[in-house]
This record gives sequence, structure tokens and C-alpha cells, in this order.
Amino acid sequence: MVGSHKVKKVASDAVAFLEVLDTAGVVVDATNQVVDQSSKAKDMGLVEYDKVISPELVELMTKARVTRQSVTEELVFAKNSRSPKLYISARATLLSAELVILLIEDRTEAKRLDETRRDFVENISHELKTPISAISLLSEALQVAIDDPEQVKKFSKNLHRESKRLGSLVTKIIQLSRIQAGDLQGEIEVFDLGQIVDEAVELNQFLADSKGVKITSDTPSEIYVQGDAGLISMAIKNLIENAVLYSENNSNVGVGLSEVEGIAEVAVIDKGIGIPLDQQERIFERFYRVDPSRSRETGGTGLGLSIVKHAANNHGGEVTLFSRPNLGSTFTLRIPIHQEQED
Ligand code: ADP
Repeated sequence: MVGSHKVKKVASDAVAFLEVLDTAGVVVDATNQVVDQSSKAKDMGLVEYDKVISPELVELMTKARVTRQSVTEELVFAKNSRSPKLYISARATLLSAELVILLIEDRTEAKRLDETRRDFVENISHELKTPISAISLLSEALQVAIDDPEQVKKFSKNLHRESKRLGSLVTKIIQLSRIQAGDLQGEIEVFDLGQIVDEAVELNQFLADSKGVKITSDTPSEIYVQGDAGLISMAIKNLIENAVLYSENNSNVGVGLSEVEGIAEVAVIDKGIGIPLDQQERIFERFYRVDPSRSRETGGTGLGLSIVKHAANNHGGEVTLFSRPNLGSTFTLRIPIHQEQED
């Protein structure tokens, strides 16, 4: 009895320590019966009827007891077949002659982040390779064609286009990685969204003129939102740029701003090629393009909409899409209106 009391005290002291560290941990006795567990272990659902439910974890604890050493393993844990899989790092170690403590670290989020980062780096390397090798080939061709003014003109024009593409790609990669890190670039301020929309239209005017596309905008002033004006401006510029790029020459693009139930809505409407239904979710992913060869022709990076989505999310807003192939697309960016604070 005294022994059992002592065992319980050792276990509860250890668990109290785990509570301070906010760690998931379970203490078991010589028969692998759970003596105590931390709140985080309870949240993860590691124990049922005084037993650790995962056979792999039980095996790990037995191994620690038999070898009298600490053992660590990376495992996948799911409470039941319907629960999400957790990627865990489990460590079992002897706490006393009878007790083994099992410490669990949930690495699911870290693993997901690692994978996202690895994907991003792989995609970036792949995307950078295309303009870099084009620039290298074109500069070689220029050397060979040095005596032919027509060829020189053609190659140098292509060289300029590819280097611009490379520049735009690098700028967008930097912007996107900053936004993803939650690092809003500019100052957080209250600004007039109408003004930002007008600026974004202006920034696309040259491109629109080159295609004979007419941009019509209706932007009432005094719709105020709070956030990073530079980022929102970039997002709206990207939407208008796409509307122009994915429209036929001499068509129309509309840009509207309105207030709907406390939300500012910027709608960018085109009558262009549209987007197939089954791709409408994917186009917001980094580097995703419906038609890579067309996007490459237009100097696309596949990053524009990803920037729009992150910019919207960072401002507590969203971006939605309504589109039908060959009829056109409407992208709507929604951001909460700034509420005046009372003194
Ligand atoms: P890109 O730089 O390739 O335009 P985005 O991220 O801006 O990259 O867009 C992703 C893809 O979504 C584009 O490659 C294109 O296929 C499609 N897309 C975006 N906007 C439009 C639009 N207004 N009309 C038709 N397709 C569009």
C-alpha cells in the first residue's frame, strides 16, 4: 500500500512537471497500466480504460523497461480510423524501478510545414530554370548572329522578355514568401479602398492599351479598410492584370467596388477565356496554371492568385470566383470595412 502510494506520488509529480512544460506524457506501471497522464495526453486520446491504445507505443515502453534505456521513435498515431493521423515523436524512459514515462511530441504541423517548404523550393527551382536556360540560349544565339541585324533584333527582344519574366518571378516569390510568413510588408493603416482600386487600374493601363482592352471602373470613395495598402494594391493589380491577359484583344474588363453588409467588395469582371469548373479551386495554388503554355506566353508566373488569396486571408477577408469557360470570369475580393473606434 505504501509502495503504491509512493508510485502514485512519483507519477503525479512527473505529470505536474509535464503540465508546466505543456507536454503530452503518460506514466505506466510494470504491467503497462496507466498511473497518470498529462492534460495534453488526454487531449490526444492516448489512453483508454487505463491502457495506452497504440500497440507501437506499448512496445516502445516495454523496450525501455527491458533495455533500461531511453528509446525514441517517430510514429503515426490515430485515435481511431476516423481520427486524423498525427505524426508523433515518442520517447519512453524509466522513471523509477517500476514506472515508465512516455513523452509524445506532436510533429504533424511541423511536418506539414516542412513539406510545404520543400514543395515550394522544388517548384521555385523548376520555374527559375525555364527563363534562365532561355536567357543562356538566347545570349549564345546572339553571339552567333552578330552580323545579322534582323536576328540580333529578334533575339534581343526575346532576351528582354525572358529577363523581365525572371525579374517578375523573383519579385513575386519574395512577396509571396513574406506574406506567407505573416510578415505584412508595409505599415498597417486605414485607407480609402477606392483610391487603391484606381491606382491598380492605372498600373494596368499600359498593358490594357497594348491589347486594346478597355477597363471600366466604378469606384466610390470613402470605403475604408484597415491593413497593408501596398499588399491590397498588389492583389487588385494581379486580378486586373489577369482579366486583361486572359481576355481577347479589344474586349472589356470591369472593375467595381461596393459595400455589402460591412464588407468591402472589389469585383474584377472579364469576358475572357474563363476557367473550367474542376480547376477553379486549384488556380489559387502556387504555380498552378490552367494552360501552362498560354500562361508562359503571357509572362505568367502562376503566383499572382496565390498572392491574392494570402493577401485576402491576412486581412480577414476572402477571394471568390465565378467563371464559365469562354464566357468569362469574375473574381471578388472581400475585406471587412474598418469600424470607427469610439473614444
Ligand atoms: P499566372 O501568372 O499564370 O497568371 P495566376 O496565379 O495569376 O498565375 O493565375 C493562375 C492561373 O489561373 C492562370 O495561369 C490562368 O490559367 C488562370 N486564370 C487566372 N485569372 C484568370 C482569368 N481572369 N481568366 C481566365 N483564367 C485565369
